[in-house]
Amino acid sequence: RVRTRFAPSPTGYLHVGGLRTALYNYLFAKKMDGDFIIRIEDTDQTRKVEGAEKNLIRMLEWAGIIADESPERGGNFGPYVQSERLDIYKSYCDQLLEDNHAYYCFATSEELEENRQLQLKQGLQPKYNRKWLPEELGGSVPASEIRKKLDAGDPYVIRMKVPDYVSVWFEDIIRGPIEFDSATIDDQVLMKSDGFPTYHFASVIDDHLMEFTHIIRGEEWLPSMPKHLLLYEFFGWEPPKVAHLPLLLNPDRSKLSKRQGDVAVEDYVRKGYSSDAIINFVAMLGWNEGEGSEQEVYSMQDLIEKFSLERVGKAGAVFNVDKLNWLEKQYIKQRPAEKILGVIKPILAAELEQRVSLMPLEVITGDEYLKKVIELMRERVGFEHEFVTFSPYFFFEPDSYDEEAVKKRWTADTNELLREFTDILYALESFSAENIEVKLKEFVAPKGLKAAALIHPLRILASGVSFGPSLYHMLEVLGKETVLRRILKGIE
Ligand code: GLU
Repeated sequence: RVRTRFAPSPTGYLHVGGLRTALYNYLFAKKMDGDFIIRIEDTDQTRKVEGAEKNLIRMLEWAGIIADESPERGGNFGPYVQSERLDIYKSYCDQLLEDNHAYYCFATSEELEENRQLQLKQGLQPKYNRKWLPEELGGSVPASEIRKKLDAGDPYVIRMKVPDYVSVWFEDIIRGPIEFDSATIDDQVLMKSDGFPTYHFASVIDDHLMEFTHIIRGEEWLPSMPKHLLLYEFFGWEPPKVAHLPLLLNPDRSKLSKRQGDVAVEDYVRKGYSSDAIINFVAMLGWNEGEGSEQEVYSMQDLIEKFSLERVGKAGAVFNVDKLNWLEKQYIKQRPAEKILGVIKPILAAELEQRVSLMPLEVITGDEYLKKVIELMRERVGFEHEFVTFSPYFFFEPDSYDEEAVKKRWTADTNELLREFTDILYALESFSAENIEVKLKEFVAPKGLKAAALIHPLRILASGVSFGPSLYHMLEVLGKETVLRRILKGIE
């Protein structure tokens, strides 16, 4: 059974790259009828942020990515938080020490830094100089000296001993075969002086113990692979299959950065993007269906059916917000009004607490009225909240009129024409778009005027602005009382 994981560090918000990693792991697991697991990697206690774990899981759930096992849901492979697994890492580390695959290192940070500077000066790639490598492992430190330091309680880390003159090889699902020379691999710290494991160590132990079949993660982790592979080898474990996802890029093809736009999923949620659009958008950052598919709008279910790691590209994926905006519009066009109601009602309620409406509250907050607004506006808004904020005139009197438009559309006769026309509207029994249109045309024709002579002023007085949906339909939705009130107010 396929098992995949998303293993975030609880250091803050959910990055869009993190969402993509979680999504691909989820899609792949679900496609293969497998399990998707969330594991929290909090071994760097200095970077841990209060509340970040809950927030990450909440954001994933908002996006529709539900874990089969997680810190909150539990499961057969827990605990799912690394700081609760310290005993496990310690016992595996003891085993490596015993098998001479790891050793104590008492170097101070000053010493390490000095060594680093020296190597840099020599044009070398900085690497630990193995000063504390014990005699049994081919170094020069006698066991007695190590014993003495340990007994004295000196602080230490535990490092892995990278074998000399070997090459490490693996086949990345996305990138194909990749080889590393052990000369380039550092004697990675496995256990830090605070007793916590490093990411590399904890992650390998857990990936094995939690029986993951596939590791799918960002390209930035590719250089860690040889260390991880060596650890699998030390323990005699078979490594899972691995896929490293392409980088996310700014439109100018530099690495995606905060400076060129928002990178926290929370920011997009706050701006009003829906999970449908965000998931769809993020799915396309590196994956496409290929083979001449023209499809661009994918539901989570479509994605589960169609996703494959083979169709994830190697090249960096450009993060283009225009595409996200376009997708959001597509979803708004097709989303059932019932669903939109659920989102806009609280927004409207909040607006109504701030502003007085002259319209009958029970009407404008009712499903029937709101659904009419939705149908009239769904081609025009970019976000769901705009059903309220983009065209507030459906709920509130215009507080001003577009002055440019007034200047352009008013003649000396306009107010008088409007006054006459309100009588006609007043007499209308059925205040339908169709009837209003017929009456308006009947009214202007004998005067030798064009419909526009009234259409524009009517729109401005009814809405305050000079653009919007079909005027006749807008007036119908607003209703006779409101329309008459607004015209009379405008010409008084
Ligand atoms: N904790 C790592 C991160 O924050 C996980 C890397 C991995 O998936 O192995 O991205």
